[in-house]
Amino acid sequence: MAGGKLQAPRGTFDVLPQDGERREALREASDELLGLAGYAPFETPVFEDTEVFARGVGQSTDIVQKEMFTFEDKGGRSLTLRPEGTAGACRAYVEHGMHKLAQPVKLRYWGPFFRHEAPQAGRYRQFNQIGAEALGSDDPSLDAELILLLAELLADAEVECRLRLSSLGNAATRAAYGDELRTYLRSREDELSDEARGRIDANPLRAFDSDHESTRAVMAGAPLLVDRLDPADAEHFAEVRAFLDDAGQEYDLDPTLVRGLDYYTRTVFEFDSPALGAQSGVGGGGRYDGLVEQLGGPPTPGVGWAAGIERILLAGAPGEALGLPVAYVAVTAPDHRLTAFKITDALRGRGVKAQMEQAGRSMKGQLKQADRLGATHVVVVGEQIEVKDMDSGEQGPVADIHELLERVAL
Ligand code: ATP
Ligand code: MG
Repeated sequence: MAGGKLQAPRGTFDVLPQDGERREALREASDELLGLAGYAPFETPVFEDTEVFARGVGQSTDIVQKEMFTFEDKGGRSLTLRPEGTAGACRAYVEHGMHKLAQPVKLRYWGPFFRHEAPQAGRYRQFNQIGAEALGSDDPSLDAELILLLAELLADAEVECRLRLSSLGNAATRAAYGDELRTYLRSREDELSDEARGRIDANPLRAFDSDHESTRAVMAGAPLLVDRLDPADAEHFAEVRAFLDDAGQEYDLDPTLVRGLDYYTRTVFEFDSPALGAQSGVGGGGRYDGLVEQLGGPPTPGVGWAAGIERILLAGAPGEALGLPVAYVAVTAPDHRLTAFKITDALRGRGVKAQMEQAGRSMKGQLKQADRLGATHVVVVGEQIEVKDMDSGEQGPVADIHELLERVAL
């Protein structure tokens, strides 16, 4: 191999052992939380036919226009590394005829996603998301359930955040509103930033996101979609809010909430954390009642969210208060390794995280290693077996393996 140091590609990262534990704790907590609510584990390939993501109507968003890793396979077919999970979930729902199952079909996933972005803290080219989707029902309790599950997941992970909520109505209302907004923006075109002016046709809603001062002034007087919802959509949104209010969930109504994917209908939401600085989005989602049909399936409502695992880990402290016993099995002389090996195995069998000495350290070195591993107990295996409780500092012999397990396991 040629000289020069090999490094992980720009915008990617390695998960090092010291970070792996926190990820695993988050994964276990989210699997349990979503599993209890009936969201089944689900996976799709990390690459799909490009048209799963670029469906014509989806082409005006930055994610589809600028951020996709698209390539041709050897047969000349255009493939794309998945930038998000919902489109693939809907493709799978259609492909496997899941509309024939009892509805709603509830799915959860965890895995890598890819976007060609300028890398910075909390923004990578390969990152990971936890996601949940409920397909096949437009019941507003599902919107609320999903929002509350994400809120609970973030609270468990000790992520301080706020929830922004809105409704985008349906395609027809949005089209009519889009025309109204375009007309309004054109009437004040010379006050807009170049960027906002350039997007009047493709994505006029993006003007609400502008930092440009006179654009902001124009937008303060712009018509709002939430004031144009048709009666059924307005009623749906009111019901979602009633469930959230009843659960004591706080949120800010944000009529300018614009999400980076344009298949959303009705409910949209986003959780932001001040701990993250510029990349403040931790997770978000919404309802996408037209997406399954766009992908060739029957008309099927759906709602879901995705949250960034790295951003949750950056902003929060998942799994740091587990308090489970950790045992270190020290060996006074090589002769005792067989016994130590058996004891270690027995401890693991009782749910104790246990490791034995495996690097030929002196007793002093072994105690130091036990400390590094955060051991709650050290088992010293010699002519007799002793257990040291690292909290109380007490150390004493045990008569047999049963007594040892009683002393160490919870
Ligand atoms: P942002 O506004 O930060 O670009 P987004 O709106 O593009 O986020 P979504 O498409 O809603 O993000 O994805 C859901 C979550 O995935 C985000 O809230 C974020 O936590 C995470 N995420 C999105 N893009 C990245 C990335 N490039 N690197 C790390 N995490 C990301
Ligand atoms: Mg983005």
